[in-house]
Amino acid sequence: MTATAESGRGSSGPAGLVLVLNSGSSSVKFAVLAPASGKRVLAGMAEKVGTPGTELRVRRYPDHVVTERLPEGTYRAVISQILGHLPEAGFGTAEASASGPGPAHLIGAGHRVVHGGERFTASVLVDNEVIAAIRASSHLAPLHNPANLAGIEAVRAARPDLPQVAVFDTAFHQTMPPRAFRYAVPEEWYTRYGVRRYGFHGTSYRFVSERAAALLGRPLAELRLVLAHLGNGCSVAAVRDGASVDTTMGLTPLEGLVMGTRSGDVDPGLFAFLADQAGLTIDELNTTLYTSSGLRGLSGVSNDMRTVEATAAEGNERAQLALEVFAHRLAKAIAGMVVGLERLDAVVFTAGIGENSAFIRSQVLSRLGFLGLTEDAEANARHGRGTRGRISLDGPVVAMVVPTDEELMIARDTARLTAAGARLRSAP
Ligand code: ADP
Repeated sequence: MTATAESGRGSSGPAGLVLVLNSGSSSVKFAVLAPASGKRVLAGMAEKVGTPGTELRVRRYPDHVVTERLPEGTYRAVISQILGHLPEAGFGTAEASASGPGPAHLIGAGHRVVHGGERFTASVLVDNEVIAAIRASSHLAPLHNPANLAGIEAVRAARPDLPQVAVFDTAFHQTMPPRAFRYAVPEEWYTRYGVRRYGFHGTSYRFVSERAAALLGRPLAELRLVLAHLGNGCSVAAVRDGASVDTTMGLTPLEGLVMGTRSGDVDPGLFAFLADQAGLTIDELNTTLYTSSGLRGLSGVSNDMRTVEATAAEGNERAQLALEVFAHRLAKAIAGMVVGLERLDAVVFTAGIGENSAFIRSQVLSRLGFLGLTEDAEANARHGRGTRGRISLDGPVVAMVVPTDEELMIARDTARLTAAGARLRSAP
């Protein structure tokens, strides 16, 4: 089954709620929502997980917020505490369970899993074999996959009967052809160690491409899109007829665009050069490229685009340069993605910067006039509200803003796969 075939358009499974979890190395983000409508019931985050100072912040919609300290900061303790909020929210109670699945009944847990390697091309129901395969991909994401697994195992311990689904950041890009995913390095690095481009942000790209097609009123199966997911991590992807054919992130989420703290592309010769000149180790270089580079490294001010924009507007030259490098590299990447599409129908901006920074979008569009893009300044200033996302003037190519919702995509996959699993179990 391909990632595009599994997107489950139109089918969100039975009524009920899904617990969506993003378990990181020191934090757990969660949401409880209705997959059909996207309506949130609970959301929140545990920080300093793994320490005695673990704090859990829970928002019960619309606006009741509590913060709790957990003496024991294990993933299990955090998950139990989150699940403990369910009866209070009016579901998961004995009565609700006895009366069968109702609209307020928890039907499954969906986990964001960062790396699915080449094994996972779509979201899957979690079983022992899936857990083993995620563990086997852990060398590709040593900080993330073990934490994602800890979340899965904690839910299993607390609610052994609750179906769980793994949704991979990499799965959507498994449709990339070898010419896009292979590096020009010795074959053995690929066959033995899995050195290839995987790409990330796949769940967001899947959600946003479907939504963009709906807003454009055209079938996704005949659209050629370049999507720019610009959050703390930034990447661009080429989506042809609903399938990813290229993207800027690679083996790791360090490749490609300038990001908040990550460098994006650098000359690979930089490692030997700085080891020689500055005596830096591979670990030190890697950490610097991940945490002290990007907007932060260039501007010297912040990794946060809002702060960099404000400081540049006050005349700070380093902040101005950071914005220029960011926009130049982004425009170049968008233009490069058109090679895999052969025709361009729309450029779509999403995530924190993509949805909110009219300035960056304007800077990028002004560099892409040769592709047939002209900014509609008024629509751009309104972030495409009232124009079905469109921020360009009439022309052969549309530029648009489409808000992403990865949690909703995970919830929908979870609802669809748990419903399919239940049908299988009840089949004669
Ligand atoms: P994450 O990747 O962690 O989910 P987000 O998608 O929330 O992050 O994106 C965070 C980025 O979005 C930050 O750089 C932040 O400065 C930027 N951002 C949010 N709002 C604005 C805004 N109004 N103008 C410019 N940048 C913004």
